[in-house]
Amino acid sequence: MPHHPYKALYLHVPFCVKRCGYCDFATRAVGRDSAEIDEYVEHMVMDVRRYAKQGELADIESVYIGGGTPSHIGMARLSSLLYALSVSLDLTREGLEFTMEANPESLDARMVRDVWALGVNRISIGVQSFDDDVLEVLGRAHDASRAQAAIEEAKQRFENVSVDLMCGIPGQSADSFARSVAKAIELGVTHVSVYPLTIEPHTRFYHDVMAGLLDEPDDDVEADHMELAERMLVDAGFSRYEVASYAKPGFESKHNSSYWTGVPYLGIGESATTMTQNGERRMRVMNGEVVDDLDRRQMEAEDLMLGVRMARGVSDERIARAAAHVDGVDEAFLELQHLGYVVHEEGRMKPTKLGWLCGNELYGRLLDLAP
Ligand code: SF4
Repeated sequence: MPHHPYKALYLHVPFCVKRCGYCDFATRAVGRDSAEIDEYVEHMVMDVRRYAKQGELADIESVYIGGGTPSHIGMARLSSLLYALSVSLDLTREGLEFTMEANPESLDARMVRDVWALGVNRISIGVQSFDDDVLEVLGRAHDASRAQAAIEEAKQRFENVSVDLMCGIPGQSADSFARSVAKAIELGVTHVSVYPLTIEPHTRFYHDVMAGLLDEPDDDVEADHMELAERMLVDAGFSRYEVASYAKPGFESKHNSSYWTGVPYLGIGESATTMTQNGERRMRVMNGEVVDDLDRRQMEAEDLMLGVRMARGVSDERIARAAAHVDGVDEAFLELQHLGYVVHEEGRMKPTKLGWLCGNELYGRLLDLAP
């Protein structure tokens, strides 16, 4: 049986100039001149061409090159990858979103001009903070002035510029975080993602916390920072369309939204996930191995969970459709309403601020409908 066509394409570049202290992404520090990167990019190019030949890229509506640090691999390799994409799918398709992630230390004016000319139309810059002391704690490879320069360079070509900011970092005051948010606003970005620091096993931060060298992030501080970000960004004309994402009108990320709405996507590269939907089953595959094999009930529960990550929540019709396959859906929403985690408005169940704050409980309650 043919699967539903892929709508989103993700390409993973697992290389960085150095490893940040908190990072648990699938990436490694590899010198820019390494032959390992050449070989990897060649494989990606061949995969892109192969999928195109099989007709798998015909319905792609968003492309995202992420990592790692895509800008770290340099313009020559990016050119061959972008060229392969440009002959494999229609980059001029109306509304197609094409994002590339970049880090300030490896994004320069030349790269901005070249990737834009080759079809990228959205750039997402890993800034994290505009405070040098905080950047040093995080172990980032850039400083605040380089971050600012990278955004200014990106703005020379790109209308759609996103930055990532982190909060709840040990030693980061509310004031420092507020200054970073204000700086992003002042520089005229159109999209901001705000993430609280989490300590993941096997990271340097994890060992430092265990050894008493680093304070554990404080939940209340993180919640205060998230609130502060919301106040400042909403005042500046952004809307919080997803738990961690803010956009100026019309600049919501299509690619990220496809992950949150259960749209089939194709991942190319090491540790990139592919999600296929085949009638009553949904499967996630990574490095050739199935990481998730969901039946109809689990798919419905997952879509409800993904739906409440987004501000618009889930429609009554969507809930009724889920309830036709899964027991207890209406009861779960009643309970979540009672807890103040969702509200019913305009024919939709929408998450509240409290619901987002207690995200694990909110999402967990819905996933538990079909364990
Ligand atoms: S730049 Fe990003 S992906 Fe690379 S090590 Fe740092 S946090 Fe991880």
